[in-house]
Amino acid sequence: MAQQREYLVVGAGLSGAVLGRELAEAGHRVRIVEARNHIAGNCHTERDAETGVLVHVYGPHIFHTNDTEVWEYVSRFEQFRPYKNRVKAQTGGRVFSLPMNLLTINQFFGKTLRPDDARAFIETQADLSITDPQSFEDQALRFVGPALYEAFFKGYTQKQWGCHPRELPASILKRLPVRFNYNDDYFAHRFQGIPEAGYTAMVARMLDHPGITVALNTPYDPAMADTVDHVFWSGPLDGWFGYDIGRLGYRTLDFERFTAPGDWQGCAVMNYCDADVPWTRITEHKHFAPWETHEGSVLYREFSRAAEPGDTPFYPIRMVEEKALLGQYTARARAERGVTFMGRLGTYRYLDMDVTIREALDAARGVLTCLSQDTKIPAFFSQPT
Ligand SMILES: Cc1cc2nc3c(=O)[nH]c(=O)nc-3n(C[C@H](O)[C@H](O)[C@H](O)COP(=O)(O)OP(=O)(O)OC[C@H]3O[C@@H](n4cnc5c(N)ncnc54)[C@H](O)[C@@H]3O)c2cc1C
Repeated sequence: MAQQREYLVVGAGLSGAVLGRELAEAGHRVRIVEARNHIAGNCHTERDAETGVLVHVYGPHIFHTNDTEVWEYVSRFEQFRPYKNRVKAQTGGRVFSLPMNLLTINQFFGKTLRPDDARAFIETQADLSITDPQSFEDQALRFVGPALYEAFFKGYTQKQWGCHPRELPASILKRLPVRFNYNDDYFAHRFQGIPEAGYTAMVARMLDHPGITVALNTPYDPAMADTVDHVFWSGPLDGWFGYDIGRLGYRTLDFERFTAPGDWQGCAVMNYCDADVPWTRITEHKHFAPWETHEGSVLYREFSRAAEPGDTPFYPIRMVEEKALLGQYTARARAERGVTFMGRLGTYRYLDMDVTIREALDAARGVLTCLSQDTKIPAFFSQPT
């Protein structure tokens, strides 16, 4: 092995845990500091004290991937139970299946169309006069027409992003968002599941290695960098620089917890599409663990708003303004020495868990290659732009 090194990893989310584990397995010493009082970052799960239900504290998390290596990797640390995400949506006082499928179309329009009829019917709805869609609204109108757009997209998107769909880029809606069959699986990936004891138990096993130490309630302090060979930063990219040229915009989420006896909504996630309902969705956590039995139920109403300093950053906004600022921070990051930026915050991208793990595995391999070739560890293994 190359000479043993000491690394500091900032953040005990999936990025930090996977990278730390891989470097520790390669024989290096890894110190992880985490500002929060728990590991697992935004995937954190914990038992609700009142009901005993396992709660996805930062919003619903379903593991899904086509990446066999990543699936085998996570399955090493925790038993995964098969789980298919199936979402329902309320609009205009009625409940529909989401993503929009043949059932949604038939129920919404009061029809009994077969796949080919439905395809032809949706084409009659679509606004074909829009030949060069510029905005999310244009794109939705061109794909599905005004009735489905108004019912399913307009209000929801406005609540989620805090702006009119006319102000969002068309690229958000890349494909026709309708299925012409009765498949209501939210994800199409080959491997789908939820860790039986939760994501935090899975991450705890990743971190359980003699080469790793974890300090909770410990925000990064620049003096820490002096005592290690290199820093891996999975915190916010702009945070590394003290936000000195401005903050990269995020949406944050507020969760309003409530409890109920039995089964309150009959499914894990119910979206609320109407603009006059202030929340975007309600999550009933017990449905993520159908193998458990609980008398009571705990639910989160989810509200989206612009993140202020001190809020948890959830979804990067990445509009024109943010991209310009991102370009500046990225250029500065590349000029830094002794630090690598990673993960959803360090690269200012929305990343699913499987992609996060793939990138952390690749980063660890990249680090080991740099060590063996005696080259500089780069600022990014995955580029923010
Ligand atoms: C609402 C929501 C739902 C999602 N659902 C899914 C899903 O169903 N399926 C899926 O695959 N993915 C889902 N994701 C994505 C998933 O949450 C991410 O892939 C994952 O959390 C990324 O891990 P990370 O380690 O990069 O970041 P994080 O989990 O954010 O971890 C970063 C850690 O760094 C810590 N930190 C930051 N700054 C500092 C500092 N200065 N000092 C010390 N510590 C610091 C933070 O406290 C945090 O714990 C969802 C995301 C959101 C927002």
